[in-house]
Amino acid sequence: MIIDGKKVAEKLREDLKKKIKQFKSTFNSVPGLTVILIGKDPASNIYVKNKEKFSKEVGMESEVIKYQENVDEKVILDKIKELNKNKKVSGILVQLPLPNHIDKKKVIETITPDKDVDGFHPVNVGNLSSGYESNIPCTPLGCYLLLKHVEKNLSGKHAVIIGRSNLNGKPMAQLLLKENCTVTIAHSKTKDLKTECNKADIIVVAVGKPKLVKGDWVKKNSIVIDVGINKTDTGIVGDVDFDEVSKIARAITPVPGGVGPMTIACLLNNTFDCFKRANS
Ligand code: NAP
Repeated sequence: MIIDGKKVAEKLREDLKKKIKQFKSTFNSVPGLTVILIGKDPASNIYVKNKEKFSKEVGMESEVIKYQENVDEKVILDKIKELNKNKKVSGILVQLPLPNHIDKKKVIETITPDKDVDGFHPVNVGNLSSGYESNIPCTPLGCYLLLKHVEKNLSGKHAVIIGRSNLNGKPMAQLLLKENCTVTIAHSKTKDLKTECNKADIIVVAVGKPKLVKGDWVKKNSIVIDVGINKTDTGIVGDVDFDEVSKIARAITPVPGGVGPMTIACLLNNTFDCFKRANS
C-alpha cells in the first residue's frame, strides 16, 4: 500500500472547511493564522505561500508579516507580544530557520503557548510528554495521522523512530508512546541501525539522508513513514529507498506526496484547535 498523503491531507482540509463554516454561521468568527517571515530564503517563501493559500482555502483569516533579513530581534519579539493579545489571531507561526542574530529559543518562548501552532513552546512540549492536551508539532502529527489511517490500533507495536530532533523524532516518540507502542529512538550514534529496524512494526525516518533505509532493513508487514526531503541530481527523494522498501513493507509513504502535504493540513488543524479553545 502506498499511503497517499495528498488525499488524506485533502480530506483533513475538507473536514476543517466544514467545521469553520459551521463556526462562522453560529459565532460569526473564523480562526486567524499569522505567519512571520524573516528574510528571503526561497524554501521558506514557498512554505509560507502554501500556508497562506491553504488557510484561505479552508476559510481562515490569513496574514503574513514580512521582515528584512537584518530586522532587530526586539522588533520581532514586540510584534509577537502584540499578536499574543490580538483576539483575531488564533495561531502564530514564525517561519524557521531564523537569521543567526535572532535567538530562536527567545522567539519560541515569546509566543503564548495557546497560540503556538507549531507546538514548539516548552509548555506544549511538556504537556505532550506528560500526556496532556497540547499543540503538537505539525510534521509528527501528520505522520501519526497517516499511521492511524493505515492501522487504527497501534497498541503493542514496536516502533523505531530514526532521528531525535525536537521538530520530528522526539514528539513522534511521545505520540507513539501515548498509543502504547514500544518505542526505540535511533540517531547518528546508534550502533546497528539495520538490526534495530529489522525488529520494527513501524519505522518513522526523519534524518535527511537520501535512501538511508534499505529493503533488507524492514520486515514484512511493517509500516514505513518517510519524513526526509532530500534534493538529489535525480530529484527529491526521501530517507527511505522507496523502490526496495515498497516491495517488502505493508505500507509506505512516497516522497513527495506522503508526509509533506500533511504538515500544512496539520498546521491548519492546530490553528482551528487553538481557535476553538479560545472560544470555548
Ligand atoms: P535534524 O534536526 O537534522 O535531525 C536529524 C536527526 O537524524 C538527528 O537526530 C541525527 O542524529 C539523526 N541522524 C543523522 N544521521 C544519521 C544516521 N546516519 N543514522 C541515524 N540517524 C542519523 O533534521 P529534522 O529537522 O528532524 O529533519 C529530518 C528530515 O526531515 C530532513 O530531510 C528534513 O528536510 C525533513 N523534514 C520534512 C518535513 C515534511 O514536512 N515532510 C518537515 C520537517 C523536516 P543526532 O541527533 O545524533 O545528530
